[in-house]
Amino acid sequence: MVLRVFNTLTHQKEEFRPLEAPKVTMYVCGPTVYNYIHIGNARSVVAFDTIRRYLEYRGFEVNYVSNFTDVDDKIIKAAQEQQLTCEQIVEKYLRAYYQDIQALNVQPATLNPRATENMPEIITFIEDLIAKGYAYASAGDVYFRARKFANYGQLSKQAVDDLEQGASQRINAADTVKKEDPIDFALWKHAASNEISWDSPWGLGRPGWHIECSVMAIKYLGPTIDIHAGGEDLIFPHHENEIAQSEVHTGQKFARYWLHNGFVTIGSDNEKMSKSLGNFITVHELLQQVDPQVLRLLLAATQYRHPLQYSDASLDDAQTNLQHLQTAAKNLNFRLQDSQTTAFDEGIEQQLTQLTQQFTAHMDDDFNVQNGLSDVYELMRLINRYSQQAQINFDNARHLLDRYAQLLAIFGITLKFDYEVNAQVEELIQQREAARANKNFAQSDRLRQQLRQMGIILEDTPQGTRWHKE
Ligand SMILES: [Zn+2]
Repeated sequence: MVLRVFNTLTHQKEEFRPLEAPKVTMYVCGPTVYNYIHIGNARSVVAFDTIRRYLEYRGFEVNYVSNFTDVDDKIIKAAQEQQLTCEQIVEKYLRAYYQDIQALNVQPATLNPRATENMPEIITFIEDLIAKGYAYASAGDVYFRARKFANYGQLSKQAVDDLEQGASQRINAADTVKKEDPIDFALWKHAASNEISWDSPWGLGRPGWHIECSVMAIKYLGPTIDIHAGGEDLIFPHHENEIAQSEVHTGQKFARYWLHNGFVTIGSDNEKMSKSLGNFITVHELLQQVDPQVLRLLLAATQYRHPLQYSDASLDDAQTNLQHLQTAAKNLNFRLQDSQTTAFDEGIEQQLTQLTQQFTAHMDDDFNVQNGLSDVYELMRLINRYSQQAQINFDNARHLLDRYAQLLAIFGITLKFDYEVNAQVEELIQQREAARANKNFAQSDRLRQQLRQMGIILEDTPQGTRWHKE
């Protein structure tokens, strides 16, 4: 089976072939840490975590790097408003970010580098761009000559002349004086006297936003990375500029596959959720009222390129679905305590294999999670039917549950019962039953006590021993 991904650069679905399979290098643009993240930001994090988990399920080894922008105009402004230092703002929101994404069951990145930890590399990179004739210093700032890079506009599919018109309208008078061309973008910004700054060949200043991602992606993942990902609002100018800087610096292709996630919309007119529109809900707030697994399921259940509609109704749906998913597993898991078992059923195994293949085919089509999840719901129905049989086979039941847990984990959903603990409990119960059969009541009591300490309550019934967690 072939995994195909939509590449923003070529505007088509392409076979995914990493440079050094099974290794995959993946760089995801991370947050500027000056505020709590909202659902739109979390959607991006969850979308690429789901993609990473699926790649790992497919046997790839993902080196996942996601940066923190920890120096930026927005951070400086937040520090002034809250009367804190920039470092305090960064630490505050970085901690909140980790709390939020951990609650959403996002796997930790291989590395979360920060811009401020890479200042010497950023300066060296800019010096190289100047030496190559693609950048110039101007009144303490440094700019990149965008027009000189022949492929400028290729990612966002824009002609340089159209960009020029847009840039001329946006630009303020002070910048016009400093720039050779309105479409040039800043690599280094001269700092005002009281602002946080670093010493550089161009005086005190701080890096522009785009350069930090180029520097960190290349430093930690190499000159050519397999997947570069981020929200679709980053295509221009952020990712367009990253390509220009990086490819001039290394002389090599920067990223092989560009993946961009769609927006989250809110309200009846499906307005884009954003900080600037003020219609956002922070994850921090929402998780005080909502089970994080419900939000995770909601965010993971829409294919990453599609807009995701957020509403109370969609949250309710996710809650209902999650409950059904958990209940199916709980019911079959409970049947594992039956003392009677029936013959192994090959038919069940065939259905399971077929469903798994269908799931993989669906997900291989540019991570089509809607179709992938329908397969998981079908597996859920199979589990429900199986649980209702008069007698079950433990091996069949375990295979169903193992696969179910494995597929749900791709979406970041964790089954509530602990499978490992279950196996241990069953083992101890069997030992106890053997002890009782041998009339070794001291041993039987010790085992009951041991289970009690694990929070397991035993109930001896005519059908055998049943147990539950206290
Ligand atoms: Zn970036």
